[in-house]
Amino acid sequence: MPSASVASVASVAVGAPTRPIRVPIPEKKGQQGPATAESRRLSKSLKRKRDENELAALSTAVENFDSKTATLFAELPLTRQSAVALDKSHFKALTDIQRKAIPLALKGKDVLGAAKTGSGKTLAFLIPVLENLYRKQWNHLDGVGALIISPTRELATQIFEVLRKVGREHTFSAGLVIGGKKLKDEQEALHRMNIVVCTPGRMLQHMDQTVGLNFENLQMLVLDEADRILDMGFRKTLDAIITNLPQERQTLLFSATQTKSVSDLARLSLKEPEYVAVHEAAASATPVTLEQFYMVVPLHEKLDTLFAFLRNHLTAKIIVFMSSCKQVRFVYETFRQLHIGIPLLHLHGKQKQTARTDITARFLASPNSCLFATDVVARGLDFPGVDWVIQIDAPEDADTYIHRVGRTARYEKTGRALLFLCPSEETGVIKRLEAKKVPIVRVNAKQSKKKEIKPQMQSLCFKDPELKYLGQKAFVSYVRSISIQKDRETFQLAEYPLEEFASSLGLPGQPRIKGMKTADTERIKERKNLPRALRKLEEEQAAATAAADSDDDSDADLAKKKDEKKDEKKVRTKHDKMVERQNQNVLAEHYRSLVHDADASDDDADFLQVKRTGYSDSEGEEEDDKEDEEADADADSTGGAVDLIKKVVLGPDGKELIIDSKRREKLVTSKKKIAALKSKGVKLRFDDEGNARSVYELQDEEKFLASGAPEDQRKSFLQTEGKKVKIADVEDRDLAKRKKKEKKEKRKRLEREAMGEEMAAEHNEEEEGIQLYGKLELPDWNATSDDDEEGGGVELQEKSERPSKKRKKEKRRVIEAEDEPETLEDLEALAAGLLG
Ligand code: ADP
Ligand code: MG
Repeated sequence: MPSASVASVASVAVGAPTRPIRVPIPEKKGQQGPATAESRRLSKSLKRKRDENELAALSTAVENFDSKTATLFAELPLTRQSAVALDKSHFKALTDIQRKAIPLALKGKDVLGAAKTGSGKTLAFLIPVLENLYRKQWNHLDGVGALIISPTRELATQIFEVLRKVGREHTFSAGLVIGGKKLKDEQEALHRMNIVVCTPGRMLQHMDQTVGLNFENLQMLVLDEADRILDMGFRKTLDAIITNLPQERQTLLFSATQTKSVSDLARLSLKEPEYVAVHEAAASATPVTLEQFYMVVPLHEKLDTLFAFLRNHLTAKIIVFMSSCKQVRFVYETFRQLHIGIPLLHLHGKQKQTARTDITARFLASPNSCLFATDVVARGLDFPGVDWVIQIDAPEDADTYIHRVGRTARYEKTGRALLFLCPSEETGVIKRLEAKKVPIVRVNAKQSKKKEIKPQMQSLCFKDPELKYLGQKAFVSYVRSISIQKDRETFQLAEYPLEEFASSLGLPGQPRIKGMKTADTERIKERKNLPRALRKLEEEQAAATAAADSDDDSDADLAKKKDEKKDEKKVRTKHDKMVERQNQNVLAEHYRSLVHDADASDDDADFLQVKRTGYSDSEGEEEDDKEDEEADADADSTGGAVDLIKKVVLGPDGKELIIDSKRREKLVTSKKKIAALKSKGVKLRFDDEGNARSVYELQDEEKFLASGAPEDQRKSFLQTEGKKVKIADVEDRDLAKRKKKEKKEKRKRLEREAMGEEMAAEHNEEEEGIQLYGKLELPDWNATSDDDEEGGGVELQEKSERPSKKRKKEKRRVIEAEDEPETLEDLEALAAGLLG
């Protein structure tokens, strides 16, 4: 088949705007005359024939190509499309890796390519991808022909951009599958792709979730930064991806720090791979145009040194590497407010994809700026014109170092790199770098250029709690990053001045880290894990040296020590342990003396009850607290958990409470115990405004005397207060009246409701003298209403509440019914009784 018919689909970029490269436009049938159709058919078949011939010639040329001396792309057996695109992109001369790897890859061999950073590895795999698929006459119906995997989104995007450049004359469809957008958007386009550039996680997601996606026809698998993709971080994902790929395929692996691990290569089922390591014999693993320096900087001076460095390089393009996203954010946010004078940017894996893309583009375009970043930009990214790579945190290994510094001095350009090392890291890190052939020179910072920024950092953190919080997180993540370093010998947490570091970040104190191993906990753990016998031996030795040290030890003391040793040999009971525990303020001074006495009469000890206090307000108890620590350490060695770090919290009554044992810790969490510790409280009275006042509030005596003679003051006070009382009396009376009236009205209303309308009517008629149903009457407790209003007072109220006995009696005489009828039946019975 002629090549033109193979390449027939538009190029689709997923994750980037869909942009057709070349779409064949079908001709309209109506426009074709019979003569033109015939000539077209002829020319088509001729063209096809010619293309077939070209393809056959190209395949033979590739098979026979054996020139290791080729220096130009033009000398390689490439398609016209690739040659034209390369020429247009100004790629003319071949780099070493390109000269060696491209011919092998064109022949369909598996290649392990290793070459320094910035030496043109991207083209070394992209050209074979385009060429091989072309010679296989790959078209849109064939599905995915090549899968290129990159460890980061940014690098995948960059590879895709280079592919667009050198593949612009081809008509394959290529796509970028890196996530950061809707899966659905990528899914549709994925079915039309011939070349996929992806990150491992997102690719696996599609393999699991995109219906109908298959890689049965896959011809080529490429891993850029192969050692990174094959390491622990991507292990599971990559293994899962590989299970979806056919075994029969060509595999290309490229990296500056190539893996030679047999097990890794077995995972990829490589077939007799060609190892192309162009710089293996070179004196250094890094570009020759790269100058590398390191500086020994104490942890708490790192930010000062960085600040001073940036101040002195305002026109440079700089990348600053840190070990975690939180540090990047914190340093970026604080330095931004310090107005250094160089544009600042930051990039890390926790940012949204749009922000990541935007920042990458801005840094690419900027002539001078400083990018704070994590290792997300350590590999592969080709930012033009980077002058400096600064690593303020040590890289996790020499390979990471090589990749980080590889962001500068790319493709024959010059560049410089500076690494900050803490004093304790120097020996270990430098040894490892030298072993990897990294030429690095120690330099010192000029003292005159240094500037302490701690006050500014402190003021920033003080003003903005969010910044302080970020600082705390940065601190924690840095400490974590040290504690998880693989090289335990070089990175020992105990060697870092964490308190000073926290304060250099502007923090008021060192944030606590849950589960963090400190020197103390390590020591306790070590001691705990020692065999019992060894521990005893150690203790004895320590005691012996202590005895030797103190020459002025009296005989009596020595005798006492001997006794103690004897005692140790005895089996210690629970009771013994209890008595030994002269700690936690358990034993008050008098009780301790009792205990010493109790040694003679042990029986008494059982009856003694121990009362605990947790306060440090007496001198003697402070002594006890020291003993406490030791006792707790002992407790730990026998199985109890311990936290030797003393905490001082404010107790319920404002006194300082020392928490140095589990028991005390429980004490502050128990409500009951806190209540017991609290003082009884004071009696308060609330004034009219609702303010709490103490019951006895005395006026200042001097003030009182100054405002007149006491007797006069008393009189005027009585007068004014008397007036107030009178007014209050009148008001009170009115209020009482109003209330009474309301009450009465309410009662009336309730009665009416209870009786119903008819009964109410009856009641009215009865009042007028008309009697129905015989002499049925209700007690008349409404009759006094008028009197109430006139007379008022307590008496009347009583009257209104209870009808007088006299009246009741009169009415009873008339009614002659003992109880009020409640129901209709009662009424009927009563009426019948009256009638009958
Ligand atoms: P690597 O992957 O080895 O780190 P890249 O493939 O990213 O290196 O290439 C580094 C730089 O070198 C890029 O800017 C690229 O455009 C340039 N480059 C690559 N090959 C050539 C070449 N043959 N001629 C000129 N420039 C090249
Ligand atoms: Mg690369």
